[in-house]
Amino acid sequence: MTERYAVIGNPVAHSQSPAIHARFAQATGQDIVYERIEAPLDGFERAVDEFRAAGGRGLNVTLPFKQPAFRYCGEVTERAGAAQAVNTLVFGSQVRGDNTDGVGLVRDLEGNLGLQLSGKSVLLMGAGGAAQGVVGSLVDRKIARLVIANRTFSKAARLAARFEPALAARYEDLQGAFDVVINATSAGLADEPLALPASVIGEDTLVYDMVYARDTAFLRAARAAGARCSDGLGMLVEQAAESFLIWRGVRPATRAVLASLRGH
Ligand code: NAP
Repeated sequence: MTERYAVIGNPVAHSQSPAIHARFAQATGQDIVYERIEAPLDGFERAVDEFRAAGGRGLNVTLPFKQPAFRYCGEVTERAGAAQAVNTLVFGSQVRGDNTDGVGLVRDLEGNLGLQLSGKSVLLMGAGGAAQGVVGSLVDRKIARLVIANRTFSKAARLAARFEPALAARYEDLQGAFDVVINATSAGLADEPLALPASVIGEDTLVYDMVYARDTAFLRAARAAGARCSDGLGMLVEQAAESFLIWRGVRPATRAVLASLRGH
């Protein structure tokens, strides 16, 4: 019997997750459909209840619902508990929450982009659901220094305090180039600029924007500064593969899917 999955968010029309999971299902011979659900900003729980009642087996959760999804779960995995954010829901006798964003980011940086995180200095911008999901995985890679900056400083401070030895900073106080700069804010969705000092990005910096399928103001500025740049499409595919494994018990190959989404 065909089993139902979906991505839930607001907005969600831009999501490429349905196309990715359709490719995974075809390649692995799994009988699933994967839809998009745009929930009202005040209607996350109701929308999830309706999907479950209609026989849905699992959901991916995107902005701005990763923290509400964490609160919705009856049980969560260790990594989702540390993140206090959930991007993968599994519906069984209980609702189980997981977070695959950190694994997805690290697999893209190290596996697809060939960067060894160990010993590197990393700046993470943002303290929302996406940033919360990746801090633990970055710390686990034995990086030399992790600084978290956010428009609302108090949120960065709270997040850094949960993941020693991460430090929090205000954008205007940042100085000197980092090896890796990761944009986990949603500023790029509205093409808003980030108040980031130019000295943070040097010619040897790898600059990563989790936003995908659009050239953000942030990536354009980083490219102009001579940095190596990547959008977040690889992370999207890698976190999706991990969710697919959790739901279906089979790990899909990612390289060909990523290449086809990039159009080559
Ligand atoms: P979220 O929970 O709504 O958090 C948004 C974050 O962006 C907050 O830290 C917010 O700062 C910051 N922000 C928003 N507008 C800003 C601006 N103009 N200047 C500076 N900071 C700004 O969203 P999320 O779930 O963390 O998602 C963030 C982004 O990551 C989204 O674009 C999402 O599509 C992307 N993402 C991609 C992947 C992938 O697989 N590639 C996975 C997860 C997320 P304040 O706290 O000050 O409001």
